[in-house]
Amino acid sequence: MIVMKFGGTSVGSPERIKSVVNLINNETPKIVVLSAMSGTTNTLVKIAGLFYDRKQTEAVAEIDILQNKYEKVAEELFDSNESKNEAAEFIKQRFDLMRGFALKVFSISDEKTILAQGELLSTTLTHIYCKEKGIASVLVSALNFMRVDRTGEPDTYYIREQINRELNEYPDAKLFITQGFICRNVTGETDNLKRGGSDYSASLIGQAVNAEEIQIWTDIDGFHNNDPRYVTNTKAIRELSFDEAAELAYFGAKILHPASVLPAQVANIPVLLKNTMSPEAQGTIISSQTKGEGIKAIAAKDDITAIKIKSGRMFMAYGFLRKVFEIFESYQTPIDMITTSEIAVSLTVDSTVHLDRIVAELKNYGSVEVDRNMTIICIVGNNVMTSKDSISKVFKALNDVPVRMVSYGGSRHNISILTDSAHKNEALNSLNGYLF
Ligand code: ASP
Ligand code: MG
Repeated sequence: MIVMKFGGTSVGSPERIKSVVNLINNETPKIVVLSAMSGTTNTLVKIAGLFYDRKQTEAVAEIDILQNKYEKVAEELFDSNESKNEAAEFIKQRFDLMRGFALKVFSISDEKTILAQGELLSTTLTHIYCKEKGIASVLVSALNFMRVDRTGEPDTYYIREQINRELNEYPDAKLFITQGFICRNVTGETDNLKRGGSDYSASLIGQAVNAEEIQIWTDIDGFHNNDPRYVTNTKAIRELSFDEAAELAYFGAKILHPASVLPAQVANIPVLLKNTMSPEAQGTIISSQTKGEGIKAIAAKDDITAIKIKSGRMFMAYGFLRKVFEIFESYQTPIDMITTSEIAVSLTVDSTVHLDRIVAELKNYGSVEVDRNMTIICIVGNNVMTSKDSISKVFKALNDVPVRMVSYGGSRHNISILTDSAHKNEALNSLNGYLF
């Protein structure tokens, strides 16, 4: 069994859905995981926001526009009246449900229900299309097996039990279609794995069924050695280890959801990143094998906040860092980068939801400085530390870039640099010149 996940742009139009069905229509047993058509989840978030603000008329207007879009998709996608009618009925039912929220007090659970509609629509339309083409597909609802526990983390034991139970009901089936992103929470309500979570779904499903491979199909031909939005002439990387991929995914490479690396790594299932627009391109394979030495790729993560705590009390004292970290822990705020000196510690956070309260508590331990709008530039490669010249090239490249923090030695495959976001473009291009 393999898992094939297709992202929003890969199912973004009737043509794209047809190409996906071309790619999945073969004898290999597979579970196909689909995102919502591109743009849909954003619109659903907007609709939920309007309901929260009690702007019922505007919300319903947005729902009508989106419904219209799906009606056009169905009209274009299907040939037979039977398929058209089946799709029209499903679409109407989904959008009537959404309009129904105009009549009640809007809750978080209603928001989650609205957000789930994109994946329910894309999978159902694709399934009906397979049927029309005489391709035997089985539509399995992710709501029957994907579940998060009390802490919001996937309940892997439950997922394994339930998905295998579902699949075993169709012993002859070769092609299963299911939704990415959506799940149920511990009380059984519809929930989701957070934005971009379809990759995570695919990886969790792969782990649950012991898949031979997890394929993530997007609109770019794999992980690139630098950010193509800022640097020209970037190249796709053929092979990455799970650790390298995790660093790159977390530090900004948008192609893969960072959480999706771990389930595949735990189950030792290779992850193949492929491009639906050019399926013949090799893509990137992520596996437990580490190949090659030296710097492979650069990624950047924006909207980082740096916090410096300076204290005489830190001097030759023990227990200081624990107290600092406990404050972040109590606000469930992860720390990304850390650097220390004898009298100060600098660290970075991605989430600023609790920043004011964190800073207020940190002030009990020393003076606190906060720098916003920072970017972490992450330089990744197997044995990046020991490979010749790596660090000197990095510093040469960053000669004219004001560097706020450097993290080197945390792992064997990563050097991280923190700079003001205003210098990101310059830094990425200069590093590209020196390193590749
Ligand atoms: N449709 C969801 C989103 O846009 C999940 C995904 O595409 O991965 O965030
Ligand atoms: Mg995505």
